[in-house]
Amino acid sequence: MAHVVTQPCVGCRYTDCVVVCPVECFYEGEKMLYIHPDECIDCEACVAECPVEAIFHEDNVPDEWKNYTEMNAEMASQCKVITEKKKPLADS
Ligand code: SF4
Ligand code: SF4
Repeated sequence: MAHVVTQPCVGCRYTDCVVVCPVECFYEGEKMLYIHPDECIDCEACVAECPVEAIFHEDNVPDEWKNYTEMNAEMASQCKVITEKKKPLADS
């Protein structure tokens, strides 16, 4: 079980979420962040930090974003870990 980053994260990247993660399981893609499902311990700390409510427990991902569960698993293993808050992108 794990938490999943979904569509509202696209283009945001305020990255408030990453600093609270105790296991550093956020990974930085080009347009959004991903959570590595094998590393997330379901502490839920990140959920409240995300201003756009992009993070869900995998059991509670809304139907229209179910594909993000697989995407997080795939992309997290290809991206670099991110552990510090970054400035938002200019266009976000
Ligand atoms: S705070 Fe939310 S929208 Fe912003 S990078 Fe984290 S998960 Fe994505
Ligand atoms: S639920 Fe906890 S362990 Fe999982 S990504 Fe969020 S902060 Fe990290």
